[in-house]
Amino acid sequence: MLAATRMDGAAGVPGDFRVWLSGNEDIVEKSVGAIVVASELVSCPMNDAYGLTLSDTVLSQSQLEAALKSNPAAFAGKSIAFLMGLAQDGNPLVLERVLKSVLALENQADTSAYVIAGDLKVAEDGLERLYLECRDKGAMYIKLTAQPTVAQEGSALSITYDDPVLQRPVELVPDIIVVEEAIGADDVNAALADMLKIDMGSMGFLQTDNVHRYPVSTNREGIFVVGGSRRVKKRYGALMDAENAALRVRGLLGDGTIDVPTDKAVIDTGKCTFCLTCYRCCPHGAIYWAAENKPVISKVACQGCGICASECPMDAIQIGDYNDTAMIETVGQSATAKTGDAPTIVAFCCQNSGLEAAKMAESFGMPLPAGLKTVTVPCAGKVDIDYIMHALAEGADGVVIMACHNGNCKSERGSLYAAGVPPTPRKCWPPSGSRKSASASPPQPPTWALIFPPS
Ligand code: SF4
Ligand code: SF4
Repeated sequence: MLAATRMDGAAGVPGDFRVWLSGNEDIVEKSVGAIVVASELVSCPMNDAYGLTLSDTVLSQSQLEAALKSNPAAFAGKSIAFLMGLAQDGNPLVLERVLKSVLALENQADTSAYVIAGDLKVAEDGLERLYLECRDKGAMYIKLTAQPTVAQEGSALSITYDDPVLQRPVELVPDIIVVEEAIGADDVNAALADMLKIDMGSMGFLQTDNVHRYPVSTNREGIFVVGGSRRVKKRYGALMDAENAALRVRGLLGDGTIDVPTDKAVIDTGKCTFCLTCYRCCPHGAIYWAAENKPVISKVACQGCGICASECPMDAIQIGDYNDTAMIETVGQSATAKTGDAPTIVAFCCQNSGLEAAKMAESFGMPLPAGLKTVTVPCAGKVDIDYIMHALAEGADGVVIMACHNGNCKSERGSLYAAGVPPTPRKCWPPSGSRKSASASPPQPPTWALIFPPS
């Protein structure tokens, strides 16, 4: 185990990742089969959102927890108001911290605790029981739909709210106000995502909200995220994630051999002009640069989306049954197959969405429009401009691409490529040399990643 260690870089593919780790002064290079990221959650006080300044009488949740730990008796005889779920969405993790503190306070003599809250979300193990236990001990819950008016003058505090039961304004004058904390992703995630080339979600977590992903998966095979790396989770949920990740790693690496399906991308290096387009556009980090200066596709990492094949300017990449020869033949057959007087529309259907929708329509007895000819593609990003032109040249009256909606593409960016809006390209490679030659000398953290040949 390496404690107090930082990751400075990563490269490679499943079964043969390299990571550069540093602690103190030394940088060590390690070879690993899979990577599991378990970054921490961070909390930050929300006093600003409630118009309050932290002081002796206005405490953040963390400050209260520390004070309760060191001297709980200091709160005897005090009235304490908690503000939560009014400046952010209710959150079971936040509520659990509040309720544990309330319980500790209610155990002190003559202490009164008020929980002034928006949503009280108790959807976690044991939370409802804790909620009831606090209530039975004397805690009062005040559920509001809008933030109360909070006044802070020196150490004097007051909270005024429209009481929904009494239907009149009520003023509470507590000795102490405790403001909730926002729980969110650690800033370190951005650097990790950059090093590992994994996509981030909108809240700074290391996983996008993609319905096609298994719970601990990322856009890259062999790199998993657990617990606070992927969302706000309680310890139990994080442990479940860890078990899931262990199973996925075992499933991936197993006894050291992997059966790889045949529908993976293959490069004809005789046609390749080494333009790096495929390396930049692969959303799954499956393409690396070999020491002999050519692109290589990891069969383990490749997810067969076909984006690289449609983007390659030399048509140097082919994918199993979706190779260009087979696709052109299918498109030609679809374009020339007329159905009465109906216009012929060639519909390229992503197998993860458009095709499923067509099957679903059929199963509900809703026939597809006459003249609509479906052509299955592994991802909308596989639709090559040549296929579209061929369909029109062969007599199709129109072409449609049925893609996943943006943000829900299994390959993250396939629908963007299909729409002709290619996302920002990845960082390119260094002007000379490869990581392999550099690794013969004492290891240094890479200034770029993923251009690394597996041994
Ligand atoms: S996109 Fe095509 S030509 Fe360019 S490096 Fe990849 S395989 Fe070679
Ligand atoms: S088919 Fe998709 S996953 Fe495989 S190498 Fe090409 S772009 Fe990457």
